[in-house]
Amino acid sequence: MFKDWQRTLSRFIWQGKRARIKYKLLTDRRDRGGFAVPNLQLYYEASCLCWTKEWIALDNTDLLDLEGFNIRHGWHAYLWQDKGKVHKGFSNHIIRGALLEVWNRCKRLVEKDTPWWLSPVDILITKKLNMEGKRWTYADLLRRSDKGWEIKTYEELKDKLSGWLQYHQINAIWREHKKTGMSKNKSKFQLEIIEGKSKLLTKMYNQLLDWDTMDEEIKDVMIKWAIDLGHPIEYERWTKLWTKDMKFSACVRFRENMEKMMYRWYITPIKLVKMYRTGDKTCWKCRKKEGDFFHMWWSCEEIKKFWGLVYDELKKILKYTFPKKPEAFLLGMIGEEINKDDQIFFQYATVSARILLAQSWKTSHIPTISDWQNKLIEYMDTAIMTQKIRQQRNNKFINDWNKFLSYMELTLGNVKITVGTI
Ligand SMILES: [Zn+2]
Repeated sequence: MFKDWQRTLSRFIWQGKRARIKYKLLTDRRDRGGFAVPNLQLYYEASCLCWTKEWIALDNTDLLDLEGFNIRHGWHAYLWQDKGKVHKGFSNHIIRGALLEVWNRCKRLVEKDTPWWLSPVDILITKKLNMEGKRWTYADLLRRSDKGWEIKTYEELKDKLSGWLQYHQINAIWREHKKTGMSKNKSKFQLEIIEGKSKLLTKMYNQLLDWDTMDEEIKDVMIKWAIDLGHPIEYERWTKLWTKDMKFSACVRFRENMEKMMYRWYITPIKLVKMYRTGDKTCWKCRKKEGDFFHMWWSCEEIKKFWGLVYDELKKILKYTFPKKPEAFLLGMIGEEINKDDQIFFQYATVSARILLAQSWKTSHIPTISDWQNKLIEYMDTAIMTQKIRQQRNNKFINDWNKFLSYMELTLGNVKITVGTI
């Protein structure tokens, strides 16, 4: 249906001629250089998501009873625990079915982590009409401890809950949600839509539009990497990179490096020639081949030697061999080829090498192995800081860096290395 409308709209704009600009760019917001043609599918999704606001907020009981006269579980159980799959009757209702379908499609976009508005109390209830009682949300139930977020003590909550049993049930649900994690702040969706008062549809539409057009950029990046690596990387693998692998350190510098690598942000000889229409396309390092992104980071003979040395040292440190894959060294995409205990160290080791390369970016200089070792020693402090910020156990640092420390002691010959105070 939307495709048809879109086509009519497109035909009107181009008067039957072939579209000259990608529709995605056409619909991008005016302040970002798009043409602000409405995207009808997004408008529909935005209005559905605004409607689910009532199911999330749980304030308007009259409306909720009307829309949910025959539902079996709390609204939040359908929104977040996939109860719609168990209780098919939920979606037989014309409005509920459409809204839930759109919600399921968009929920991971609007809420990447466990939402603060989510109510384990509402997830647990069996639905009756005219339900009384406040549905306490995670914002009411959680508190910060040195181990991260946790459910408040029973003492603190006993006035809010019906008893011990409910307290235990809430904890059980929390254990499951904890795996996804809580974000530090409320999401944009919560602030603008759930707690917002005006222009909800516009705000929701713009939020969806941001993701819709951002996707385009990500797709572009994914295609370029697939061409360079000679094989595609599954979308799930990319998501894991953004949601998990990139968080190995609290240091923004490392994150920045990983993002710049992923988005291929670095200027190359080829890009410079394109930008200024003059100059020399040849690589700054070998001065033989054309310098595109992948050449400058991986396939250049000079750069290859450096990565070869890093690879050899890493095998010495880890005491086993593993395949030398560019996605591991350049993007930090690692899997089982690196033992679980060594993965954090591997990230530090490769990000150090990349930062060294970036520091001598437009020159012919190639870093040496001792540059790399020194950089890693320097970054051990960052690892200690990360441990303190994240309040991890002391032995976490030791485990991550143990192998490197004994390797350095061997290399330097019986010199004990002391790093900060652990
Ligand atoms: Zn080269």
